[in-house]
Amino acid sequence: ASLSKAGASYNMALQDVEKGVVTRFPPEPSGYLHIGHIKAALLNDYFAHELYKGTLLLRFDDTNPSKEKQEFQDSIIEDLKLVGIKPDKTSYTSDYLQVLYEYCVRMIKEGHAYADDTDQETMRHNRMEGIASKNRDKSVEDNLAIFEQMKEGTEVGLKNCIRAKMSVDNPNKAMRDPVIYRCNVDTPHHRTGTAWKMYPTYDFACPIVDSLEGVTHALRTTEYTDRNPQYQWFLDTLKLRQVHMWDFARMNFIRTVLSKRKLTKLVDAGIVWGWDDPRMPTIRGVRRHGMTIGALRDFILKQGPSRNIVTMDWTNFWASNKKEIDPIAPRHTAVEIKDAVKAVVINGPDKAYTEDKPKHGKNPAVGIKKVAFSKHLIFDQEDVKLFKQDEEITLMNWGNAIVRKINGSNPITDIELELHLEGDVKKTEKKVTWLSTDGQDLVKAEVWEFDHLFTKDKLEEEDNWEDFINKDSASKTEQLCDSNVTDLKEDDIIQLERKGYFRVDKAAKDGAGLVLFGIPTGKTK
Ligand code: ATP
Ligand code: MG
Ligand code: MG
Repeated sequence: ASLSKAGASYNMALQDVEKGVVTRFPPEPSGYLHIGHIKAALLNDYFAHELYKGTLLLRFDDTNPSKEKQEFQDSIIEDLKLVGIKPDKTSYTSDYLQVLYEYCVRMIKEGHAYADDTDQETMRHNRMEGIASKNRDKSVEDNLAIFEQMKEGTEVGLKNCIRAKMSVDNPNKAMRDPVIYRCNVDTPHHRTGTAWKMYPTYDFACPIVDSLEGVTHALRTTEYTDRNPQYQWFLDTLKLRQVHMWDFARMNFIRTVLSKRKLTKLVDAGIVWGWDDPRMPTIRGVRRHGMTIGALRDFILKQGPSRNIVTMDWTNFWASNKKEIDPIAPRHTAVEIKDAVKAVVINGPDKAYTEDKPKHGKNPAVGIKKVAFSKHLIFDQEDVKLFKQDEEITLMNWGNAIVRKINGSNPITDIELELHLEGDVKKTEKKVTWLSTDGQDLVKAEVWEFDHLFTKDKLEEEDNWEDFINKDSASKTEQLCDSNVTDLKEDDIIQLERKGYFRVDKAAKDGAGLVLFGIPTGKTK
């Protein structure tokens, strides 16, 4: 689906576009991109490239070295490319550290900022209560001297921060003298090393760099709405070129956290296998779980630019993926190894043989596979458990058979079938999958199914989110597949008949089996 169509139907527009449009996507390189970030990136891309033929900037908001890494920066560039977003320019807030330093000096000189060594707790309390800091009216000279000490990272410097002199008691608490500079001597910056011992906050750096880089429209999620007047204050106070602000809603999903801080914790604590774990809501995670890029883009763009924060269900997300994969996923067959039931077809072919069959019943373009037929078959225990003595069943892709003998119970060990190919497949109640153990080399597969990472639909602010981690979110079975699966490559998407859709995480090679990941279809289990 085209972006333009989505945009038009939501009547999305920006004001003041005559002189061109420049938008920017400003990720902090403190984690891998998640599907919420992609919403922000796609909206910026849509306005810049599709609606107004303007410019899209990618700017790394990298002024907190304690959280940021080269690895994250690289992955963000790769993931945007993967999703088909091509920024016209890439920049780094850390390229502006000297410029931002000079702006801060100017703020201090003009009486718009002051150094404050109030301890954190008192500062928080005073801001809540609207009480002025005892340092608010220090002289320009003192403030400049302390700022220099911060720059050097001295003991005095480390005790201080710089705050903008906006307001003591504005009803909007974001306007109560926000911090604009802080020391950080603990971790070298991944780009500037130890050159700087203090860094500007996002609140200070963002409006300045937006303005300097020519951004015309800054798209921000609605949790920043309270901070819009403060953004405006910096532009006005520093007499910088104006930037329009445009708010949109964050995207949330049930049983999911979309916060790099929390996702980092899941990775570091080993609750998931990594940032690309199929249970992770990262771009890499949902891809590895079998989401196609086309379906991902469609799904997000359909949400449009609404400002209402809604918590989405994964059902629609995966249903839109199913629409994309169902017409093209080749069909294969698998039988679970545990308690697999052996069958002898008493009137079956004396010699095993193979026949060419379409890989997809409705789409011949998907190709042809070889299906083996013989007297010796295996079935899933689950299916055979329901068979009744002398019942007529349908062997999919073969024809009807009558159950003549059932040996063992719980588990059933083996059965005897009598082919009844003249029987009507429309009249049987059970259509079951089977594999011939003769005439082909069955291939082992490790088949994974995943569940949500959290047990509570909607995690509230006051919830201790770690209490709701689902400790049982991955399960594995061993299965045997038809021999055709040896042709599959990593990332291929298939359907195992009657079992669902799977993405090939590892191809079968050198005698080792396949690894398959179950793809949700949107149906609730
Ligand atoms: P996180 O808590 O996941 O780190 P963030 O906002 O701190 O989120 P940034 O790297 O600063 O992460 O985000 C880059 C851009 O993505 C910002 O414009 C931000 O508003 C946007 N964004 C982040 N999360 C979401 C979300 N869930 N839905 C939509 N946009 C989002
Ligand atoms: Mg941020
Ligand atoms: Mg964050």
